[in-house]
Amino acid sequence: MNIDNIYEDLQPLVTAGSLKRRESLKNLVYTRMGGEADVLAAPVTYEEIQSISAYAHDHQIPLTILGNGSNVIIRDGGIRGIVLQTSDLSGMGIRGGLLYAQCGAKIIDVSGYALEQELTGLEFACGIPGTVGGALYMNAGAYGGEVKDVLHSALVIDQNGQLLTLHSDQLQWGYRSSIFASGQYIVLEARFKLLPGDPAAIKASMDELTYLRESKQPLEYPSCGSVFKRPPGRFAGQLIQESGLQGTRIGGAEVSRKHAGFIINADNATASDYIGLIQHVRTAVKHKFDVELETEVEIIGEEL
Ligand SMILES: Cc1cc2nc3c(=O)[nH]c(=O)nc-3n(C[C@H](O)[C@H](O)[C@H](O)COP(=O)(O)OP(=O)(O)OC[C@H]3O[C@@H](n4cnc5c(N)ncnc54)[C@H](O)[C@@H]3O)c2cc1C
Repeated sequence: MNIDNIYEDLQPLVTAGSLKRRESLKNLVYTRMGGEADVLAAPVTYEEIQSISAYAHDHQIPLTILGNGSNVIIRDGGIRGIVLQTSDLSGMGIRGGLLYAQCGAKIIDVSGYALEQELTGLEFACGIPGTVGGALYMNAGAYGGEVKDVLHSALVIDQNGQLLTLHSDQLQWGYRSSIFASGQYIVLEARFKLLPGDPAAIKASMDELTYLRESKQPLEYPSCGSVFKRPPGRFAGQLIQESGLQGTRIGGAEVSRKHAGFIINADNATASDYIGLIQHVRTAVKHKFDVELETEVEIIGEEL
């Protein structure tokens, strides 16, 4: 089906102004590169997500979910079909003794809200720049904490548009993975189980983690965070550093000199530069240490 037909068909299903066609995704991803979406939809209700998902399913149109774009690289040829961006669903609150947050809420904001509510457990997430949906998808974690430790349940829709509540023990948690990688579900809402805490202690812990992050990570440049998963018993950054790769460039992409586990968009990099550099790093580390680095970041979309 062509782009204009998809666009026209979706118009009555969503709030006015929330659809675009042939839209650049560059400013919607942290690396600030990549191509266009055929159709970009930013729904404002769960029902709109259900309608878009049902439409895509019925017409066999690819549907890609985008949160805050902090763990994806979009290839330069862009994404065919519909890209559903969740950022307009950002509500949160307390209900039934649980902290709930909608899929497009930033996990940093949820962590800040937990502090306001004097609840402890989400301090680890105070610097992770993703949404709630993206954090569940990859079991985001930092400094000893992970989403799986504090999640009670998630409200999701399945491929038939059915609303379901999945409890944490059904989510097949792994290191930077969960059941959501199967693509069977869209996360609509997360419910976190947190404990009452001392706000001064919660704040002190968040300040310390923020200091560690800012002093070690090249946050002044666009990037996707840690490019690689931690190989068993090793640290990807250390292997990259000891391979002498810091400062290596392809086009505008560069292995960070501040943190070897990061590749930064130093100067108008294309996705092709960035992906080429990822491959170069993998080859060099394999050659020197016989370790296969696996990407933590997801690479999606089409070549130019
Ligand atoms: C500077 C920097 C620092 C980072 N530090 C950390 C860190 O300390 N720890 C860590 O774990 N990660 C870190 N990350 C990576 C990233 O922030 C996390 O992986 C985050 O959870 C991704 O969320 P997102 O909303 O940006 O997801 P996106 O990048 O938009 O999407 C990632 C995947 O999640 C899927 N997805 C998104 N929303 C939904 C939904 N509602 N339902 C189903 N699937 C969905 C997407 O389809 C995609 O497959 C960092 C990234 C950066 C740029």
